[in-house]
Amino acid sequence: MAKEVQPIYILPEGTQRNSGKNAQRTNILAAKIVAETVRSTLGPKGMDKMLVDSMGDVIVTNDGVTILDEMHVEHPVAKMIVEIAKNQESEVGDGTTTAVVFAGELLKKAEELLDKEIHPTVIVKGFRAAAEQSFKLLEQVSKPVSIEDLDILYKISAMTGKGAESDKDHLSKITVNAVKQIFSIKRNFSVDDIKIEKKTGGQGRDTELVEGIVLDKEKVHPMMTEKVLSANIALINSPVEIKNTETDAKIQMQEFLAMEEKMLENMVQKIALTGANVVMCQKGIDDIAQHFFAKKGIFAIRRVKKSDMEKLAKATGGKIVSNIDDLTVADLGKSRLVEEVQIGNEKMSFVKGCPNAKSVTILVRGSTEQVVNEAERAIKDALGDLIAALQDGKVVSGAGSVEIGISKKLMQYAETFSGREKFAIKSFAQALEIIPITLAENGGLDPIDVLTELSYAHDNNKEFAGIDVFTGKVIDAWQSGIIEPSKVKMIAISSATEVATMILRIDDVIASKPDSSSKNKEPHEMMQM
Ligand code: ADP
Ligand code: MG
Repeated sequence: MAKEVQPIYILPEGTQRNSGKNAQRTNILAAKIVAETVRSTLGPKGMDKMLVDSMGDVIVTNDGVTILDEMHVEHPVAKMIVEIAKNQESEVGDGTTTAVVFAGELLKKAEELLDKEIHPTVIVKGFRAAAEQSFKLLEQVSKPVSIEDLDILYKISAMTGKGAESDKDHLSKITVNAVKQIFSIKRNFSVDDIKIEKKTGGQGRDTELVEGIVLDKEKVHPMMTEKVLSANIALINSPVEIKNTETDAKIQMQEFLAMEEKMLENMVQKIALTGANVVMCQKGIDDIAQHFFAKKGIFAIRRVKKSDMEKLAKATGGKIVSNIDDLTVADLGKSRLVEEVQIGNEKMSFVKGCPNAKSVTILVRGSTEQVVNEAERAIKDALGDLIAALQDGKVVSGAGSVEIGISKKLMQYAETFSGREKFAIKSFAQALEIIPITLAENGGLDPIDVLTELSYAHDNNKEFAGIDVFTGKVIDAWQSGIIEPSKVKMIAISSATEVATMILRIDDVIASKPDSSSKNKEPHEMMQM
């Protein structure tokens, strides 16, 4: 008698499975959608996006990584694309939109190859070969840059942001100066070595570079001096307050207050005896203690951010002390000047002329919070670009020129292959054209015309020919000062290739049934992004 055939369950009930071509197409679609979202922001004529979060807070930006981050995408492949933007941001701080747009285009081209029954592994192999060759070609068209080449550095930093022209020049000078200051001390530094402090109010051109540390704090007492020369700074991370005093019922209120006052006076006295004339306190300072500090001519600030305390310690050579009783002269930090400065309607404190680290702060100004935040993003991009250019020592011409140049040479390179990889290399070359195409589209120009003209120029040995999105004319991008770090392009090509090939190699998506307790959307909903 035949046994009854039992179905075999390998995956738990409710698991979503999407395999083969179907999985590939869905994944490619998700990646293309993400790329499409940021595409319109590319280049100086790109548009901004307004992002409203669940709390109703508004961000207006054209920064690729900010947009993607705020979108909170859920599709796993879309998330992978967001990751490359983040990776690009952390590696070089700029070129995020380029990386994402290029990744989307690589996948679009790959889809066409899949339609021609070219196997994903062949496409992956071709893309990788093309990327490797691109790095060599990029190297060939790069030019050297050093800290002496101020003119080039100004141009690199003026590239980012879409603010008013006059502000742009101003900001580019500030970013270059900030980098110069740090570079004169140490070669290996990151954007984090430059502090950015924001203050709403004023204009973009009021943005300034402060040699030292800027604290968004005013002195605690109006009677305190506004300016301390040759500052000896006590860095304290405990409150200058009396907490939970044991009140003995027999002690009268009067007596109690007198006792408290005495204790506070002692605390201030202890600090003063070390020779400190500035107190930076991470916690609170009691009103009475404030008064005593003022009387002793000590400049004090309370509730300094922990991160600022650490920066102060580093820059002034001081030590953060938790117990006032332990404070000694050896713990004091030093600086040439500590002063309170009126910025717009508010007061801030500057700590200038620090001995150890030459710290610099860019104080960003602008009329509204959104403007200031967007300026900060642009400054960070510019700093990232300058650092990338200086550390790598190489720059290339932008405005689509480098992409067209590499694309054309890759087409020739493809001809040296006889197998089907040739098609993949050609597709990779064509995908690079998406950068000038998008720049043209965002500039309201006809992309086909632009591409034709660029191609013609490059065929006639104009290797720096790019598109001026403002005039629509083909220009020598190098001469026009549209210059970018080679590293930004290199990382963009490499991370886009990496993610595209990774996505192409997936032929099965197995999504577990979501936890009933989880608030997340069901996987099949996520798949249909
Ligand atoms: P990303 O996030 O990739 O850095 P951006 O919006 O900063 O995106 O745009 C960078 C692109 O804009 C680069 O390809 C750069 O060469 C190009 N670009 C910048 N300025 C100009 C210009 N004046 N004319 C044409 N292209 C420009
Ligand atoms: Mg940029």
